[in-house]
Amino acid sequence: MSPLTLSSPIAEIDSRIANRRTGGKGKGEPAHQVLDTGLGIRTVGELLRHYPRRYIDRSATIPIGELRFRIGQDVTVIGTVDGVHARPTRRGKSMVVVKLYDGTGKLDLVFFNQPWKAREYRQGLELAASGKAQTYGGRLQLANQEVEVLRDEEAEQVHTGRITPVHPASEGVSGRTIRELVHRALDRLPPLADPLPAEVIQEEGLAPEDDALRAIHFPDDPQALAQARDRLKFDELFALELGVAYRKRRLEREATGVAHDVEGALVDRFLAGVPFELTAAQRRAMKEIAEDMAAPRPMNRLLQGDVGSGKTVVALHGAMAAIQSGHQATIMAPTEVLAGQHFLTVKSLLGPVGGRDILTVPERGPDGTGQRSLLGEPESPSPERAVTYALLTASVTGRDRRRVLDAIGSGAVDLIIGTHALVQEGVEFADLSLAVIDEQHRFGVHQRITLKEKGAHPDVLIMTATPIPRTLALTYYGDLDVSVLDEMPAGRQPVRTWVARTGAERAQAYRLVHDEVTAGRQAFVVCAAIDEKNRLEVKAAEQEAERLATDVFPDLRISLLHGRLRPADKGSVMEAFRRGDADVLISTTVIEVGVDVPNATVMLVENAERFGLAQLHQLRGRIGRGGNRSTCVLFDESGPDNEEARTRLEAMVRTTDGFALADVDLLLRGEGTLFDIRQSGLPDLKLAKLAEDFDLVGRARTRAFSIVDADPQLDAHPALLELLRHTFTGDAIAWLFHG
Ligand code: ADP
Ligand code: MG
Repeated sequence: MSPLTLSSPIAEIDSRIANRRTGGKGKGEPAHQVLDTGLGIRTVGELLRHYPRRYIDRSATIPIGELRFRIGQDVTVIGTVDGVHARPTRRGKSMVVVKLYDGTGKLDLVFFNQPWKAREYRQGLELAASGKAQTYGGRLQLANQEVEVLRDEEAEQVHTGRITPVHPASEGVSGRTIRELVHRALDRLPPLADPLPAEVIQEEGLAPEDDALRAIHFPDDPQALAQARDRLKFDELFALELGVAYRKRRLEREATGVAHDVEGALVDRFLAGVPFELTAAQRRAMKEIAEDMAAPRPMNRLLQGDVGSGKTVVALHGAMAAIQSGHQATIMAPTEVLAGQHFLTVKSLLGPVGGRDILTVPERGPDGTGQRSLLGEPESPSPERAVTYALLTASVTGRDRRRVLDAIGSGAVDLIIGTHALVQEGVEFADLSLAVIDEQHRFGVHQRITLKEKGAHPDVLIMTATPIPRTLALTYYGDLDVSVLDEMPAGRQPVRTWVARTGAERAQAYRLVHDEVTAGRQAFVVCAAIDEKNRLEVKAAEQEAERLATDVFPDLRISLLHGRLRPADKGSVMEAFRRGDADVLISTTVIEVGVDVPNATVMLVENAERFGLAQLHQLRGRIGRGGNRSTCVLFDESGPDNEEARTRLEAMVRTTDGFALADVDLLLRGEGTLFDIRQSGLPDLKLAKLAEDFDLVGRARTRAFSIVDADPQLDAHPALLELLRHTFTGDAIAWLFHG
């Protein structure tokens, strides 16, 4: 037999096991085929990265005879099959009973509607069964049982130490077959080279790779398993961080950006005109952004700040630096309404520096002069050239749109506020040097910086109100520099939140709306369709909104914002609400509620159990923006067994801290759901958990950056370069090495 390597095909491990078919007697596909098509495992290396999903520890099992003292507990027993009986139930369903015996007692493993179980288990098989001990009709059973075949009579004694791994299986290949293949492969493999530099292993106190990879599958004891997991988690995080560090430093080295003049008259006048006291966090973020903008390399920065923390003024400060350096800046929002709102903010904050909407500037005379000189006239508070800005959304049409587009292309307008579509549609800027991307909700890893001006690299500032857990910011977003607004403007009061489940609580919530409106405030009622593409859901939400408007609040002035409204109409509904023309805004769409109405002090959220934490937090952020105490009521229609929903809503009640909520969210949902890592080609974490492994993330990152900083091209570390090349796949390769 030729020696086995990590790239050997599965069939070479042991052709008898690899060709085993679950159907027996030549039926079904051979195991190696199923591994390929079902689990994407083709090589020995891939098989060894297919880690067990759980382990059966013989020393932690209990004798079957003891089960009746453990009713209600989760237990594992090991026994031998003593008989298999299949029979129909009285209602005609199939039922298979497998009798398990261990010398101390007998246990029935009962399978309903899985007639094939009768073939799967035979007398003499050794099984491990886990589940919750219970009695049924006087007999012992395991609820939610999980059964694993440990050994059969033909067993070639694959192993059986104290701890047996349970590998994720799939239809057509059993966990036992996978276990045997892994065991054989490890048997035949020569010791594996360690991918990490020796000093990292030593200084981090890591187990050797070869030991870890063997122990993760067949640990001698729990301690060996823990060490193996730590080592392999470190590997995952290190590979990811190495890529992140490599890309970050490469971009900083290769791409040339604009070195802005960040100190200057326009910035000074802007700061002098800000009508409030900046928070320390805002000042710090402004400084960090200014330092990046002054440097000749392109900025790639994430500005994280909870809703209401005041990101817009920070972004505008950067825009002033770009403009005073003679370039253009843009602020892009995910929706029309938000773009409209940024536009209003810009209008008010640029008042003091003589900012002008380009559409209000008289058009150029035939001699090509006019515009600039007009702006220099005394109405402008400064003799210097005034700042011009423009709004570009789908609702800017016709002649206005042409004017705006011309001005962007000629450089006549300095600051453009628009939707993300602005860039996607390829608007041509004369000289863009700062792009601010306001992301209200989660964003993809790669889509995020598709913005690249031809030739030049504008500085990019991504603003997010979705607090990204720190570990995530350090890993999948780890190539970005991060500024955090961790402080709310003075005078904000945290929003009080409660959950309403009963009719009485609902009535109380409606009374609250009435009371606040009577006191001159306004309210939001959200009955949003979670899935805006689901027409039935949208319709139901709209009907609910109509019902509230006519039945519950007939005496109040109600505005309705729903999916069927055209963008321009949505804008005017919003604008009217902001002006105070309506008492209650009933909204069926989530994102469009992203508005700043400081007078709104109540928010009711229908079917709050259906929203994710990030969404709920976003929604709630729409109130509590003025000086008055605000209240958020979450209607919970979930059943009492929906523990996840309860945990979410309780977290909302407990805290208004977006970062704390983001951590809960990460724990509840896992990182995979935050964005689609797999599609991006960025390495997936199999063992490491961002919600738990804070310490490892930090250590892996420090190591990775120090290696890349000492050896930016990894010339002295060919093995690490190789590690990157096979860890990052698909689009992520380009992300890493080019563009
Ligand atoms: P967000 O971070 O959610 O985008 P905004 O930038 O929209 O927040 O700011 C929210 C509101 O707070 C705006 O009305 C803004 O003018 C105001 N604001 C921002 N910074 C401060 C501050 N330091 N003091 C008082 N109000 C502020
Ligand atoms: Mg904002």
